[in-house]
Amino acid sequence: MTAFHPTSHKPSEHTQVAESAFDTLYVHANIATMNADFGCTLDSKNNPDNTTTDVAAIPYGQLLDAAIATRAGKIAWIGSSEAAQNLTAEQTFDLQGRWVTPALIDCHTHLVYGGNRSNEFEARLQGVSYSEIAQQGGGILSTVTATRAISAEQLYQQTEPRLRALIGDGVTTIEIKSGYGLDLDNERKMLQVARKLGQDYGVTIKTTYLAAHALPPEYKDNADGYIDAVCEWMPILHAEGLIDAVDAFCENIAFTLEQVTRVFDTATQLGLPIKLHAEQLSNMGGSGLVADFGGLSSDHIEYLSEANVVKMAQAGTVAVLLPAAFYTLHETQRPPIASLRAHGVAMAISTDCNPGTSPCTSLRLAMNMGCTLFALTPEEALAGTTLHAAKALGLQQHKGKIAIGYDADLAIWDIDRPADLSYLMGKPSLFALTSPTLTTPANLFNLPTVWQA
Ligand SMILES: [Zn+2]
Repeated sequence: MTAFHPTSHKPSEHTQVAESAFDTLYVHANIATMNADFGCTLDSKNNPDNTTTDVAAIPYGQLLDAAIATRAGKIAWIGSSEAAQNLTAEQTFDLQGRWVTPALIDCHTHLVYGGNRSNEFEARLQGVSYSEIAQQGGGILSTVTATRAISAEQLYQQTEPRLRALIGDGVTTIEIKSGYGLDLDNERKMLQVARKLGQDYGVTIKTTYLAAHALPPEYKDNADGYIDAVCEWMPILHAEGLIDAVDAFCENIAFTLEQVTRVFDTATQLGLPIKLHAEQLSNMGGSGLVADFGGLSSDHIEYLSEANVVKMAQAGTVAVLLPAAFYTLHETQRPPIASLRAHGVAMAISTDCNPGTSPCTSLRLAMNMGCTLFALTPEEALAGTTLHAAKALGLQQHKGKIAIGYDADLAIWDIDRPADLSYLMGKPSLFALTSPTLTTPANLFNLPTVWQA
């Protein structure tokens, strides 16, 4: 079994290595680069910095019988397999026509939580109403209770299988939100667990502070008082290095625009980027607020207005679509895909993995739902979990496409064509996964040793 990451097998100091030598070379690959330089129009449309104009449009920016060379964890060369014959590398893998994509990015998850809510799922299907379940202590507060009740170690152990499922689906970058602690110590505990999972597995974890997720019982009928506390805890947890971005839930069952504005003001003073759960159940105008703050993303957005689509386009705010939550809740109002497309708003897709409305740990299933329920094209769905998901996390200069200088986060698939990633439901198709930091692929996959060229 080969540990499959390119920073292994460094040459010793005494080895003479030609200047052109690379760490790893992958040949005979079909590559969905998602890169405007190779014709991916979804890259050029949504990237104002991109000046490439003279390349013909090619779906997925695909390259057939191509090669990628990596050096020091970065993509260092892209070209034809034929041209790659002149390169030297410490190790070469013949991919035998397999497809390579940027490793997937899940840009909106509540992956860290205690317990689960399958009991409520079952009760609802036996006819118990949502309000009865809430009266019995169910709903989001039951997850808060379960999350508060367990230790950091237990929380880590309960989250680990979900993380492994995502990695097994081709994901190496994951956003994880707090928001089930709802007090300082338990929000800290959630964020620490997220950080530790990232360190232990060598995946890129972006943490988001979502204390403004729901009103905890100790602040009942005092939402403004709770928002004061959320704003007091934020600099404390930020000083501990636990926060990469700040999120809130703007909805008639959660927090108002005015309350969210206070959270965003505090985040902005700390230099933290913002994002928002907005327009999921009604049009509160949260997406316009995100755009006003130059925020990273507005997420859910089923009830998003045309005016705020325009504002998002102008601000470069990403539209994060969460079709698995739409599916679970039997929603009927679809996000305004045609309008987002027409205005050139980058659309990402994410699992929204959470115990209440989206117990989903397959990003590829979310891609399928994005196509089936929201009528995205499979190319848009793949951009939504690579290129545009990177942008939703502020990582668009490092991840999400196959480009020189980008992180060598690559997913290698046993598929016939890129559309299979959205088309196939439930078929494990990942052949191998590589990232400069990934520590566990050999434990997760039976990587063949025979395919070394
Ligand atoms: Zn969410």
